[in-house]
Amino acid sequence: MAFELPNLSYAYDALEPHIDARTMEIHHTKHHNGYTTKLNAAIAGSELEGKSIEDILNDLDMSNMAVRNNGGGFYNHVLYWDIMSPNGGGTPGGDLGSAIADAFGSFEAFKDKFSAAAATRFGSGWAWLCAHKGGKLDICSTPNQDNPLMPSTGCGGHPILGIDVWEHAYYLNYQNRRPDYINAFFEVINWGRVAELYQVNS
Ligand code: MN
Repeated sequence: MAFELPNLSYAYDALEPHIDARTMEIHHTKHHNGYTTKLNAAIAGSELEGKSIEDILNDLDMSNMAVRNNGGGFYNHVLYWDIMSPNGGGTPGGDLGSAIADAFGSFEAFKDKFSAAAATRFGSGWAWLCAHKGGKLDICSTPNQDNPLMPSTGCGGHPILGIDVWEHAYYLNYQNRRPDYINAFFEVINWGRVAELYQVNS
Protein backbone atom coordinates (compact mmCIF):
# COMPACT_ATOMS: atom_id res chain seq x y z
CA MET A 1 0.00 0.00 0.00
CA ALA A 2 1.62 3.18 -1.16
CA PHE A 3 1.56 6.36 0.90
CA GLU A 4 -1.19 8.76 -0.16
CA LEU A 5 -1.38 12.53 -0.06
CA PRO A 6 -3.99 13.28 2.62
CA ASN A 7 -6.84 15.66 1.97
CA LEU A 8 -6.92 18.76 4.12
CA SER A 9 -9.82 19.04 6.57
CA TYR A 10 -10.31 22.70 5.57
CA ALA A 11 -10.29 24.72 2.35
CA TYR A 12 -7.12 26.27 0.94
CA ASP A 13 -8.44 29.74 1.78
CA ALA A 14 -9.61 28.79 5.27
CA LEU A 15 -6.47 29.99 7.04
CA GLU A 16 -6.52 33.46 5.48
CA PRO A 17 -5.41 36.10 6.24
CA HIS A 18 -2.70 34.26 8.18
CA ILE A 19 -1.72 31.81 5.44
CA ASP A 20 -2.95 32.62 1.93
CA ALA A 21 -4.86 30.24 -0.32
CA ARG A 22 -2.32 30.21 -3.17
CA THR A 23 0.49 29.24 -0.82
CA MET A 24 -1.65 26.50 0.71
CA GLU A 25 -2.68 25.08 -2.66
CA ILE A 26 0.85 24.99 -4.09
CA HIS A 27 2.25 23.66 -0.82
CA HIS A 28 -0.23 20.79 -0.73
CA THR A 29 -0.68 19.90 -4.41
CA LYS A 30 2.91 20.45 -5.53
CA HIS A 31 5.34 20.21 -2.61
CA HIS A 32 3.63 17.65 -0.37
CA ASN A 33 2.42 15.69 -3.37
CA GLY A 34 5.98 15.62 -4.69
CA TYR A 35 7.40 14.26 -1.45
CA THR A 36 4.69 11.60 -1.39
CA THR A 37 5.31 10.47 -4.96
CA LYS A 38 9.09 10.40 -4.51
CA LEU A 39 8.84 8.54 -1.19
CA ASN A 40 6.77 5.83 -2.86
CA ALA A 41 9.31 5.58 -5.68
CA ALA A 42 12.20 5.43 -3.21
CA ILE A 43 10.78 2.52 -1.20
CA ALA A 44 9.18 0.56 -4.05
CA GLY A 45 10.50 -2.98 -4.03
CA SER A 46 12.63 -2.44 -0.90
CA GLU A 47 12.21 -3.85 2.59
CA LEU A 48 10.72 -0.48 3.62
CA GLU A 49 7.63 -1.01 1.49
CA GLY A 50 4.61 -1.75 3.72
CA LYS A 51 6.14 -0.28 6.89
CA SER A 52 4.53 2.65 8.67
CA ILE A 53 6.09 6.04 8.05
CA GLU A 54 6.98 6.32 11.75
CA ASP A 55 8.81 2.98 11.63
CA ILE A 56 10.63 4.04 8.48
CA LEU A 57 11.80 7.30 10.07
CA ASN A 58 12.71 5.74 13.45
CA ASP A 59 14.95 3.14 11.82
CA LEU A 60 16.19 5.34 9.00
CA ASP A 61 19.61 4.94 7.42
CA MET A 62 20.48 8.66 7.33
CA SER A 63 22.68 8.10 4.27
CA ASN A 64 19.56 7.11 2.30
CA MET A 65 18.88 10.64 1.10
CA ALA A 66 15.83 9.79 -1.04
CA VAL A 67 13.95 8.29 1.91
CA ARG A 68 15.34 10.85 4.36
CA ASN A 69 14.22 13.85 2.31
CA ASN A 70 10.94 12.49 0.97
CA GLY A 71 9.91 10.38 3.97
CA GLY A 72 10.58 13.37 6.18
CA GLY A 73 8.76 15.62 3.75
CA PHE A 74 5.76 13.28 3.67
CA TYR A 75 5.50 12.94 7.45
CA ASN A 76 6.27 16.55 8.33
CA HIS A 77 3.56 17.97 6.12
CA VAL A 78 0.94 15.48 7.34
CA LEU A 79 1.60 16.83 10.84
CA TYR A 80 1.68 20.47 9.68
CA TRP A 81 -1.79 20.34 8.06
CA ASP A 82 -3.13 18.43 11.03
CA ILE A 83 -2.11 20.94 13.69
CA MET A 84 -3.56 23.98 11.91
CA SER A 85 -7.21 25.02 11.84
CA PRO A 86 -9.31 28.02 10.80
CA ASN A 87 -10.59 27.88 14.39
CA GLY A 88 -7.08 27.83 15.82
CA GLY A 89 -5.03 30.20 17.91
CA GLY A 90 -5.31 31.04 21.57
CA THR A 91 -3.52 29.04 24.23
CA PRO A 92 -3.71 25.40 25.31
CA GLY A 93 -5.23 24.37 28.62
CA GLY A 94 -5.36 21.06 30.43
CA ASP A 95 -2.36 18.76 30.71
CA LEU A 96 -0.61 20.33 27.72
CA GLY A 97 -1.01 23.83 29.11
CA SER A 98 0.44 22.67 32.43
CA ALA A 99 3.33 20.88 30.73
CA ILE A 100 4.18 24.00 28.72
CA ALA A 101 4.16 26.11 31.90
CA ASP A 102 6.37 23.52 33.65
CA ALA A 103 8.87 23.31 30.78
CA PHE A 104 9.12 26.94 29.75
CA GLY A 105 7.72 29.02 32.63
CA SER A 106 4.71 30.41 30.75
CA PHE A 107 2.94 30.22 27.40
CA GLU A 108 4.56 33.50 26.36
CA ALA A 109 8.01 32.15 27.21
CA PHE A 110 7.23 29.02 25.20
CA LYS A 111 6.07 31.12 22.25
CA ASP A 112 9.26 33.20 22.38
CA LYS A 113 11.50 30.12 22.46
CA PHE A 114 9.61 28.26 19.72
CA SER A 115 9.53 31.39 17.54
CA ALA A 116 13.26 31.91 18.03
CA ALA A 117 13.96 28.31 17.02
CA ALA A 118 11.91 28.83 13.86
CA ALA A 119 13.36 32.25 13.07
CA THR A 120 16.99 31.23 13.51
CA ARG A 121 16.86 27.97 11.52
CA PHE A 122 19.26 28.94 8.73
CA GLY A 123 17.94 28.13 5.27
CA SER A 124 15.17 25.56 5.08
CA GLY A 125 13.82 23.39 7.87
CA TRP A 126 11.40 23.04 10.72
CA ALA A 127 11.00 23.93 14.40
CA TRP A 128 9.35 21.41 16.70
CA LEU A 129 7.66 20.99 20.03
CA CYS A 130 8.37 17.42 21.11
CA ALA A 131 6.79 15.29 23.83
CA HIS A 132 8.77 12.71 25.79
CA LYS A 133 7.39 9.65 27.55
CA GLY A 134 6.62 10.80 31.09
CA GLY A 135 5.31 14.14 29.85
CA LYS A 136 8.31 16.42 29.41
CA LEU A 137 8.40 18.83 26.48
CA ASP A 138 11.20 20.43 24.56
CA ILE A 139 11.81 22.60 21.53
CA CYS A 140 14.29 21.92 18.76
CA SER A 141 14.79 22.50 15.06
CA THR A 142 16.01 20.45 12.13
CA PRO A 143 17.30 21.32 8.66
CA ASN A 144 15.65 20.41 5.37
CA GLN A 145 13.02 17.66 5.88
CA ASP A 146 14.72 16.02 8.85
CA ASN A 147 12.45 15.10 11.72
CA PRO A 148 12.88 14.31 15.44
CA LEU A 149 11.83 10.70 14.84
CA MET A 150 14.97 10.15 12.77
CA PRO A 151 18.20 8.99 14.44
CA SER A 152 20.83 11.50 15.60
CA THR A 153 19.10 14.73 14.61
CA GLY A 154 19.76 16.37 17.97
CA CYS A 155 16.01 16.30 18.62
CA GLY A 156 14.30 13.72 20.78
CA GLY A 157 10.81 12.65 21.70
CA HIS A 158 7.81 12.73 19.41
CA PRO A 159 6.88 15.87 17.48
CA ILE A 160 3.44 17.22 18.44
CA LEU A 161 3.74 20.66 16.81
CA GLY A 162 5.85 21.65 13.82
CA ILE A 163 6.28 24.80 11.76
CA ASP A 164 7.59 24.63 8.22
CA VAL A 165 10.06 27.47 7.66
CA TRP A 166 10.95 26.62 4.08
CA GLU A 167 10.36 29.74 1.97
CA HIS A 168 7.70 27.83 0.01
CA ALA A 169 5.57 27.94 3.19
CA TYR A 170 5.38 31.73 3.33
CA TYR A 171 7.23 33.60 0.58
CA LEU A 172 4.24 34.54 -1.64
CA ASN A 173 2.57 36.42 1.21
CA TYR A 174 5.43 37.35 3.51
CA GLN A 175 8.49 37.43 1.19
CA ASN A 176 11.54 37.53 3.49
CA ARG A 177 9.53 38.36 6.63
CA ARG A 178 9.74 34.95 8.27
CA PRO A 179 8.99 36.36 11.77
CA ASP A 180 5.64 37.70 10.50
CA TYR A 181 4.74 34.23 9.20
CA ILE A 182 5.74 32.68 12.53
CA ASN A 183 3.45 35.11 14.37
CA ALA A 184 0.65 34.33 11.92
CA PHE A 185 1.15 30.59 12.42
CA PHE A 186 0.31 31.03 16.10
CA GLU A 187 -3.12 32.36 15.02
CA VAL A 188 -3.96 29.05 13.33
CA ILE A 189 -2.47 26.44 15.68
CA ASN A 190 -5.09 23.82 16.53
CA TRP A 191 -4.24 23.40 20.22
CA GLY A 192 -6.96 20.80 20.68
CA ARG A 193 -5.23 18.54 18.17
CA VAL A 194 -1.78 19.25 19.66
CA ALA A 195 -3.18 18.29 23.08
CA GLU A 196 -4.42 14.97 21.63
CA LEU A 197 -0.96 14.28 20.22
CA TYR A 198 0.54 15.14 23.60
CA GLN A 199 -1.72 12.60 25.34
CA VAL A 200 -0.83 9.86 22.88
CA ASN A 201 2.93 10.50 22.89
CA SER A 202 3.74 11.41 26.49
MN1 MN B 1 6.77 22.55 3.09
